[in-house]
Amino acid sequence: MCYAIPGRIIKISNNIALIDYYGERKEALVDIEGIRTGDYVFAQGGVIVDRLQEEVALSILEGWREAFSRLKKKDKDLAEEEPFPEGIDPEIIRIIRKGEEGITLTRDEMLTLLRCSGRGELNLLYQTANSIRQKVHKNSSCVHGIIEFSNICKNDCAYCGIRKDNHALERYRMEADEIVEIVTSAVNRLGFRAFVLQSGEDSYYTTERLTEIIRRIRERCGVLLILSIGERDKGCYQELYDAGARGVLIRFETSNPDLYGKFHTTLRYEDRIETLKGVREIGYIIATGSLIGLPGQREEDLLEDILLARSFDTEMYSFGPLIAHPATPLASTPPVDLDAILKVIALTRLITHDGNALVTSAVETLFGKEGTRQALMAGGNSMMINLTPARYRRLYAIYPREDRATGFPDEDVQRRISETVSLLHSLGRAPTDIGISGTRGGNNKTSL
Ligand code: SF4
Repeated sequence: MCYAIPGRIIKISNNIALIDYYGERKEALVDIEGIRTGDYVFAQGGVIVDRLQEEVALSILEGWREAFSRLKKKDKDLAEEEPFPEGIDPEIIRIIRKGEEGITLTRDEMLTLLRCSGRGELNLLYQTANSIRQKVHKNSSCVHGIIEFSNICKNDCAYCGIRKDNHALERYRMEADEIVEIVTSAVNRLGFRAFVLQSGEDSYYTTERLTEIIRRIRERCGVLLILSIGERDKGCYQELYDAGARGVLIRFETSNPDLYGKFHTTLRYEDRIETLKGVREIGYIIATGSLIGLPGQREEDLLEDILLARSFDTEMYSFGPLIAHPATPLASTPPVDLDAILKVIALTRLITHDGNALVTSAVETLFGKEGTRQALMAGGNSMMINLTPARYRRLYAIYPREDRATGFPDEDVQRRISETVSLLHSLGRAPTDIGISGTRGGNNKTSL
């Protein structure tokens, strides 16, 4: 885990750099040429993405110093465990403490936590997950920008509004120039350092077209690029890695093959798992997880989802609530309650300790900022901000969206950045991909 403030390399061994941030040490893969001990660098998602001139780095670090320690202290204070409240089921306390100590939980113990419903017990679970998050990641919280570059998809997932059978939806594709321009603008004007490039499964974007987009971005910007483009063969993903992509976001949606087949009639469960194995072998950072709230899903399925995600040595866990689009076969599926989501995030943190846990935008759609805040206080440490231009954003309707935007960079993006930064700061968290100014001529408004 890294901060989007520069760090100084104090050692490089086997292509892994040890980076110092005001005395805090984090490791990152050396992924650009000519990096040496003593250099100041930006690292994202465990990968060094850019090098800075020393005077630029020192000026940024000086501007951040006081805020860095203030936020860290606040986060630590908030994560401090309180004495056990009275009346908590001792068995739940035992299981939670066992997980906190890093001792492997049995399936029955994990299921007990997923089935738990007592308020005191749940609060203890969330608080413990938050305390583990604080010890492992300190106060760093990644905030990636996401750009949805095509809403055309050849698949028919039973809940998704951009499924091919939704003929009422207006479709769009962005060309390479537009995508490269959005990323460049977000780096230079907004200070972003990590991006998810997302689309439906759209074969217009051949390996060659995607390679060109990735190469052009990497030539212009030192950023972490994460692809969310669905299933491609391993050869394609290898070429995209060689071009400079370093992460893949692909959820398996459910670990239950029967449920998977029922709701993904144009996809095969085995192919999804093979894709995940393939990108792992190539060396990508993996973001994966599942939907919470599919009809017929049981706690046992959710537990298997967590264990399946963990089996890939996942760097970022992405578990989010199902919001079925009204124009889909699952339109009448009611959403789950917030605790169903918090329990999955907290249990994932309890049994994995490290790894990043994404708080999906679907959580905010259902439960507002308060839902996001609670998820961040239950083990979550990662968010995304949508940078898709306003004219496309409402069309990327995996579920219905409302936007108040008018253009890009637009007031809506600025508003969401400042709301996200305010929320993170209120919890003592330091956004790791935004939140600083002074780099590459940035005019970032997200001051501390
Ligand atoms: S969930 Fe993904 S693969 Fe399925 S229809 Fe939607 S965009 Fe396509």
